[in-house]
Amino acid sequence: MKIQEADAKLLLRAQGLPVPPWTVARSASEARTAAATYLAHGASAVVVKAQVLVGGRGKAGGVKLARTADDAESVASAILGMSIKGITVRKVLVGPAAEIVQEFYLGAILDRASRRIVVMASAEGGVEIEEVAKRDPGAIHRETAHPFLGLADWQARRLAFAVGLGGVHLRTFVAIAKGLVTTMTTYDADLVEINPLAIVRETDADGNSLVKLLALDAKITLDDSALPRHPDLEALRDLGEEDPADVEARTHDLSFIRLDGTIGCMVNGAGLAMTTMDLVKRAGGEPANFLDIGGGARADKVAAAMRLILEDRKVQAILVNIFGGITRGDEVAKGLIEARSQQHREVPMVVRIVGTNADEAQRLLREARFETAATLDEAAEKAVAAARAVGGAA
Ligand code: GDP
Ligand code: MN
Repeated sequence: MKIQEADAKLLLRAQGLPVPPWTVARSASEARTAAATYLAHGASAVVVKAQVLVGGRGKAGGVKLARTADDAESVASAILGMSIKGITVRKVLVGPAAEIVQEFYLGAILDRASRRIVVMASAEGGVEIEEVAKRDPGAIHRETAHPFLGLADWQARRLAFAVGLGGVHLRTFVAIAKGLVTTMTTYDADLVEINPLAIVRETDADGNSLVKLLALDAKITLDDSALPRHPDLEALRDLGEEDPADVEARTHDLSFIRLDGTIGCMVNGAGLAMTTMDLVKRAGGEPANFLDIGGGARADKVAAAMRLILEDRKVQAILVNIFGGITRGDEVAKGLIEARSQQHREVPMVVRIVGTNADEAQRLLREARFETAATLDEAAEKAVAAARAVGGAA
């Protein structure tokens, strides 16, 4: 689950990392009020940033500075409603603008190969790290955290020196790098990224200039499978930006992933769902989705799964593959019959049901004139042929 920058900053701040203050505004006039407050309290400018769950907002024109409340209002009204990578901006973050001296990249990821948290740092901050990785992989420095002890001070210092940070910034950098790993483990994140981590110049009350490190941007993705351990983090989910299909799938407790093909798949069990997709491919087709309806799926759940599959306009045939164990075949058959009666478009369907109550299921399906198959190979071939007949190449 991706969370918005403002929420990511909240989590970083809770772990003691240096983050500038901010306000989230949903209208230009709210942005104006927030800006006026920061400007009245010593900020010489404010930054207005689109809050959308995609990167590269700066490049897309979604990050702007403003020197007056009027400016902030007009900048905010330009950003609100803007579309960034296909997502409409509905809120902006307003905060005091930092005077940037230098930008760095600092991030922690879950490295699945080593099964460890890896902290990455680069002196090429502000640009997307994927670009740096492509252009100049040597510019990214890595340290692997210990599973129990986290990142050691010496590792954090090595990263600091590698990106050219030392002197007054060394202590803060070490704390921030270690804090990233703590943030990862505390919230079960699989990515925590600060880009840019910036050296900024500030002027204190006596007019003295000082420099310090500040996290100007924050990106966190949380491990969906670990969310039940963090019920409070569920509140950070931004439903407005999620694919409606994902929301629907979660409501019905279905495990659903959309793919590019034309054969909709409805299967019980993750392993069987993978196998089904393999056999669709072997039969010359491309699966339109991964869908595991889970064990003990009842008729209403089956109907919901069918709606999800049919919402995808690319789907030209549906393959239902059910191995009845806890899931009763006749329940699934009833769900399919009900779902088809509500179906707003005609799509050929091939059903294979074996196991618990399979005979009863077959009887119901025959009566309702469903196409059935005895084996999975046969089912896959029939589904692919049906899709070809409907819309050309699968
Ligand atoms: P992203 O493009 O979505 O990653 O958004 P960022 O928050 O990283 O902002 C993009 C760029 O805008 C940063 O790399 C900075 O160069 C600039 N920027 C962001 N915040 C500030 C700020 O407070 N002051 C100044 N001067 N520039 C900023
Ligand atoms: Mn950024």
